[in-house]
Amino acid sequence: MNSSDSETPMDFRKTSCCIVGGGPGGVFLALLLARKGVDVTLLELHDDFDRDFRGDTIHPSTLEALNQIGLAEGLLRLPHGKLNSLQLHSGGTTTTLATFSRLRIPFPYIMILPQSHFLEYLIKEAEKYPTFHRIMGANVQRLVQKEGVINGVLYRSQDGVWHQVTAGLTIGADGRFSKVRTLADLEPIRSHPPMDVLWFRLPKKANDFHDQLRFYVEGGLFSFAIDRGAEWQVGFVLLKGSFAELKSAGLDTLRGKLGKVIPWLADRTDALGDWKQVAVLSVESSIVKKWHKPGLLLIGDSAHVMSPVGGVGISYAIQDAIEAANVLSEPLKKGSVTEMDLAEIQKRREPSVKAIQKFQGFIQDRVIQLALKPNQPFQLPWFARLLLSVPILRNIPAKMIAYGTNPARIQNP
Ligand SMILES: Cc1cc2nc3c(=O)[nH]c(=O)nc-3n(C[C@H](O)[C@H](O)[C@H](O)COP(=O)(O)OP(=O)(O)OC[C@H]3O[C@@H](n4cnc5c(N)ncnc54)[C@H](O)[C@@H]3O)c2cc1C
Repeated sequence: MNSSDSETPMDFRKTSCCIVGGGPGGVFLALLLARKGVDVTLLELHDDFDRDFRGDTIHPSTLEALNQIGLAEGLLRLPHGKLNSLQLHSGGTTTTLATFSRLRIPFPYIMILPQSHFLEYLIKEAEKYPTFHRIMGANVQRLVQKEGVINGVLYRSQDGVWHQVTAGLTIGADGRFSKVRTLADLEPIRSHPPMDVLWFRLPKKANDFHDQLRFYVEGGLFSFAIDRGAEWQVGFVLLKGSFAELKSAGLDTLRGKLGKVIPWLADRTDALGDWKQVAVLSVESSIVKKWHKPGLLLIGDSAHVMSPVGGVGISYAIQDAIEAANVLSEPLKKGSVTEMDLAEIQKRREPSVKAIQKFQGFIQDRVIQLALKPNQPFQLPWFARLLLSVPILRNIPAKMIAYGTNPARIQNP
């Protein structure tokens, strides 16, 4: 074990599966395993699920999975928005990029729900099963290893005390900066898309239109506004590495650029009074070569960070969770998880992750780069215009965003 005296745990807990990270991937997996009677312990760093700018999208693939286990109806009863299409406004024209409502699928829209409400809903369901345990404010800092096999973690609670969880299987679902991944020496192969995104909120006004998401491109500026009920969540896209220059130019410059690219927001950019209101997302796309080691599996962002193009990070993390539960439920109950089981999960999920990352890379390089060129009038590339104008092809982008290439389905729901 990798610990010093000061790290001596105050208590020990034993569980079949220890999941590190209460994001969409970790919580969904914990719910699916608990439903199957697997003893599962979820460790989450924070003491709640309410964090800024984590993505509020629930895709058709996720709604179908929830429907398989009878949970879609309850979720849809929560106050939410529906995203029926994605539109691009540029040079006075509007282009529809994807129309979900045209797809013949059970849930032809993206549900917009604060991520904290979604996670709390799943947790409430998981808590109905006696084999589900969660510990909040648990900062996982060490892996417990014996003879090359990982069999649990050490975490610190908020009072600084160390605790140990011993587990037949440990899952790293702790996101893009995964501690578990680093501790296990599983290095991601990174590509850095040519952009970063600034996120901030602006107030909504009574006569604002009601549409969930619109993209705007004008004079080398690219921005989008997401309807979050009482406010707009704005994404402002920058060429990678150019934030420092914008920051030194001052907030007025950002306000001016925003008013230029989204003119109907110009009357409220004053609400942006401090850089502290602006969160910078360094856009990354990466994938870990091997998602597992004896006793350990990575899922979601810890195995593969997705670019924000198409907003698929949440649905991909959930699809990893679904395949993990499909493969592992029985071996976990029998206490007989093998590395071949873990490899099977990567085998099922990796092609789909790589395919969507390729698609995202293509959009970043061929569309977003173009949109950020200041001295060139923006036009969608010819292949995109062709794709969107031919009836049998124009549903492809919507399908790709809704499902990815090979959506996971819950086996024996
Ligand atoms: C600004 C921004 C906007 C985004 N918008 C969208 C969007 O609109 N749609 C979309 O689909 N995706 C979006 N994403 C991506 C999306 O948030 C992720 O792809 C998705 O949340 C991945 O889920 P996950 O469960 O793998 O990891 P996360 O959601 O990152 O969850 C990881 C969890 O692990 C916890 N954790 C971390 N370290 C430890 C530790 N040491 N011990 C215990 N717990 C730990 C964290 O607190 C966190 O709760 C966005 C991301 C960002 C940064």
